[in-house]
Amino acid sequence: MLQDQEAHASQMERTFIAIKPDGVQRGLISEIISRFERKGFKLVAIKLVVPSKSFAQKHYHDLKERPFFNGLCNFLSFGPVLAMVWEGEGVIRYGRKLIGATDPSKSEPGTIRGDLAVVVGRNIIHGSDGPETAKDEINLWFKPDELTNYTCNQEKWVYGVN
Ligand code: UDP
Ligand code: MG
Repeated sequence: MLQDQEAHASQMERTFIAIKPDGVQRGLISEIISRFERKGFKLVAIKLVVPSKSFAQKHYHDLKERPFFNGLCNFLSFGPVLAMVWEGEGVIRYGRKLIGATDPSKSEPGTIRGDLAVVVGRNIIHGSDGPETAKDEINLWFKPDELTNYTCNQEKWVYGVN
């Protein structure tokens, strides 16, 4: 069904996706990016970062009471982490579907974690879990001028926008 441009623009969302140090070290960057790209989502920001431990603690602040928090923040701070922002209709929710369940032993085959990871402590990728966290995480990892705004030629074919 064809959508008009205004309706299409109002449904656009952005989410924060990061390939963790294990995904980077295992050479999975292009594999993971291609899954988001082929789906039809649009890459609007990307950079390779070595976060400090205190930065990692900010990113995972909602997990600070959990027993794995310290190890998780240490691990993220090994870096490098490939930080990205992806845009598209439903990208926050669907990005989580592409990623799969937190524990790769329970992730469905066909998902990133299901296909490419084995244990929860090395599950290779992070994705925002809702609109509020997406906003907070994008603001934590990126400055406003690092986020691009461009029209991608494939959008009219992905969305059928007239
Ligand atoms: N994690 C872990 N042990 C656990 C649960 C989570 O090491 O028992 C790690 C894992 O890397 C996970 C991250 O903590 O991706 C954040 O946990 P969350 O529950 O937010 O899962 P996610 O949103 O990444 O699926
Ligand atoms: Mg989470």
